[in-house]
Amino acid sequence: MADALVPFVLEGAAVRGACARMDATAHDALAAHDYPPPLKRVLAELMAAAALLASSLKFRGSLIVQLAGPGPVKLAVIECDHALSLRATAQWDRDAVSRLPAGASLAQLAGDASQARLAITLDPEDGPLYQGIVALEAGSVATLLEHYLASSEQLESRLALAVDDGRVGGLLVQRLPGAHDDAAGAWEEAARVVGGASAQDLVAADDPTGVLAALFPTRDLRVFEARAPRFACRCSNARVEQALRIAGRDEIEAALAEAGEVVVTCEYCGRRYTYPPGQARSLFEPAAGSGGPA
Ligand SMILES: [Zn+2]
Repeated sequence: MADALVPFVLEGAAVRGACARMDATAHDALAAHDYPPPLKRVLAELMAAAALLASSLKFRGSLIVQLAGPGPVKLAVIECDHALSLRATAQWDRDAVSRLPAGASLAQLAGDASQARLAITLDPEDGPLYQGIVALEAGSVATLLEHYLASSEQLESRLALAVDDGRVGGLLVQRLPGAHDDAAGAWEEAARVVGGASAQDLVAADDPTGVLAALFPTRDLRVFEARAPRFACRCSNARVEQALRIAGRDEIEAALAEAGEVVVTCEYCGRRYTYPPGQARSLFEPAAGSGGPA
């Protein structure tokens, strides 16, 4: 079964939503690192949430979900672009994470809740950044993001996320602004369905359309064309070389002196970029100013 994200509306009601199934995306994106189980689960939840939030973006660009705290997890980053290409990375203290329960919350992973933050950044290709920050109470990922949506988008939202034995799914419903609720109680029903959906419910069917049909048996659902979330890293030789130029010649010489070559490992996908001395130094030659060596 391929990963899919299915947008939908409840006919005759001011309710829209999206339902996602992302087993392969999460598996592929998290394969580069040996994440401890609680962190892996939270990263998969954040990936499903990021795809659901990004599916309604009206611009070309990225949505970035970033958790920062004093630890055991210092940093977790999920990027999802307008085409639903996702990648993820994290920095954590293995011993400290191993002392946490398997079901550790986001707040437990991030450490002191008063210092930890969950930031959602919208990064359009041709516009200014927008960033919303959610304080990290002892809430679930879904609850935190509901707060974010209520404050930043002014949209009443309900979000449910499921990570269960390699299966990753999520369901988002939003009450559209300014519209009266034509279909009696549609929003209340949608909110109740999402609030009551178990992890099993969200990944029970093979695809999101089947999940929606089971969760809304009596509603007239209009389901739109399924989209395909997938893991894709944006790292490239050009980006790595640009980063090395910014790091500067001294930094590169220090790396060459220590290791005999410059090795850069992408923190997202784990791909290694290796530069022997001649190639590394050529990045700083005047001719490299017009786009770099081939
Ligand atoms: Zn990469």
